[in-house]
Amino acid sequence: VPTVSVFGIPVCKWGMKDTVEYLSQVVASGTPHQIITANPIMIMSALESPEYKQLMQAAELIVPDGSGVVWAAQKGGDPVAERVAGIDLMHELLLQGVKEQWRVYLLGSTPEVIEETAGRLSRQYPGLIIAGHRDGYFGPEQDEEVVQAIKEAAPHLLFVARGADTQEPWIAKYKQSLGVPIMMGVGGSFDVISG
Ligand code: UDP
Repeated sequence: VPTVSVFGIPVCKWGMKDTVEYLSQVVASGTPHQIITANPIMIMSALESPEYKQLMQAAELIVPDGSGVVWAAQKGGDPVAERVAGIDLMHELLLQGVKEQWRVYLLGSTPEVIEETAGRLSRQYPGLIIAGHRDGYFGPEQDEEVVQAIKEAAPHLLFVARGADTQEPWIAKYKQSLGVPIMMGVGGSFDVISG
């Protein structure tokens, strides 16, 4: 993966098409990947917290979500192909998922929002296999149970919407035990999708 360093964070230089092609190969390979959609707030968090920086550096793929990240790469003289927004990447992966019959798990937001999101996505992407969904309001004592439920659903894609402070560390912590090929934090996307 060709990357450019943005304040020490290796950001992928590919545009949307190459990113989705690569991620299709990742699904075929079955190896767990954490995808981080980097925005300036996350880069700032990494500058402030060595733990968050380490976590980001350990992600298998970091895409340039924020236009500020695209700008910083350009400014540093090593531009990325284009902005790859998290919500757009999610859309492309769902389209690809329908084609390739990937199983999708949706984790996060309130019970009402996740219910509505699952319903809307099923209608918006006919044929989409939603292998499971659950809300994002649970404490660390329930982590094991949640991880187990996801493993049993055996998804190819796992989207986690619990806020950047929570979702990225959570995915990183359980990445190996979850073993899902594509695990991606999507922040407030379920709130947007559910209207
Ligand atoms: N969320 C969640 N569990 C939590 C906190 C937040 O599932 O413990 C969800 C929340 O319902 C929303 C999403 O995470 O759908 C993003 O939350 P917020 O906008 O507060 O986080 P930010 O993106 O600002 O970090």
